[in-house]
Amino acid sequence: MLTQKFDTLVKQLRVLPGVGQKTAQRMALHLLTQKRPQGIALAQALDVAMHDIIECRRCHSFSDDEVCPICQDPRRDDALLCVVETAADVMAIEQTAGFRGRYFVLGGHLSPLDGINADDLNIDQLIGRLKQEPVEELILATGTTVEGQTTAHFISEAAKSHVSKITRIAQGIPMGGELEYLDSMTLSQAMQNRSFI
Ligand SMILES: [Zn+2]
Repeated sequence: MLTQKFDTLVKQLRVLPGVGQKTAQRMALHLLTQKRPQGIALAQALDVAMHDIIECRRCHSFSDDEVCPICQDPRRDDALLCVVETAADVMAIEQTAGFRGRYFVLGGHLSPLDGINADDLNIDQLIGRLKQEPVEELILATGTTVEGQTTAHFISEAAKSHVSKITRIAQGIPMGGELEYLDSMTLSQAMQNRSFI
């Protein structure tokens, strides 16, 4: 133990994915010896983000306000609604810059073995939104994992009486792939080459 406060910092840094004891110690030492002002800025950014970032009331992605910038943007096409598993998927698709519709974040995928059922996702909210605000096309951009496919089929069944055109992103992307790990070109192609489910 170096000091009690140092140990506490190391312990908290280990919350980050892929950060073990040694990496956390290296990070803490780096901040203390070379980057104190940046360390304070980091602490402040974390404080603000953890307290103030909320779930968008409309799409369930992250937002600083009740409704996120994408949902508020008048230039986006209300006729296209893209359903994804997580906010990370929204970011991945946005980085391809090829999609100008709206999003809806499910909050995960169906996985009965892990105890994740339809009630645990925002599926009811999605169907409710489709009833109130019809779209021309519902794009199912859940992952190509077995769970992602199952989720897409489940939503397709639940939504088919409310929307005439339901499409699935192209399956040329590797099976078992999570959207957020795809390169932009592959994801952009998959979005363009979607097909009826
Ligand atoms: Zn939103």
